[in-house]
Amino acid sequence: MSAIPPALAKLIEELVKLPGVGEKTATRLAFHLLRTKREDVEQLADALVKMRDGTKLCSICLGLTADDPCALCTDPQRDASVICVVEQPADLIALERSGQLRGRYHVLHGRLAPLDGVGPEELRIAELLRRLQDGSVREVVLATNPTVEGEATALYLSRLIKPLGVRVTRIAHGLPMGADVEYADSLTLGKALEGRREM
Ligand SMILES: [Zn+2]
Repeated sequence: MSAIPPALAKLIEELVKLPGVGEKTATRLAFHLLRTKREDVEQLADALVKMRDGTKLCSICLGLTADDPCALCTDPQRDASVICVVEQPADLIALERSGQLRGRYHVLHGRLAPLDGVGPEELRIAELLRRLQDGSVREVVLATNPTVEGEATALYLSRLIKPLGVRVTRIAHGLPMGADVEYADSLTLGKALEGRREM
């Protein structure tokens, strides 16, 4: 691979680490960047570092935010008695776009996947239970993905939460089985929230 200058090879090596980027795509991107104006490359590098430094997790809902706690957790207009539980920050963003939920959120940062070694301890479940302790939350809406693992996660959580005297609901299957909350359109997500059922 000596035909490729080391700096270019290094960039390709870094790009390949991105999800969905194979050797071919990484090489194409790297050559594209090589032909790009220096200031544009600088802007990209700058945006990457600023994104990393300026984005953190909200200490309450564990969603992405620039300020902690996030705007959703501090908004007095939102119903603090309803918490919608999602797998990933991207799911929160998608649900929020649907405009149906006026409550708050909790991001698990994953789903139970025993085969991949993801157990309850790997998820942010302890933080969720802590939020239920003072009795101010009356409903938890489980909006994990309608996949086998998402369903198992919802079932696990409902068994933990129901004994606390909190109502547990599951978003409706307006979402096709196997679909991701993240990629569902706003209308479908809105309907799924509207038609949530008791667990
Ligand atoms: Zn928050």
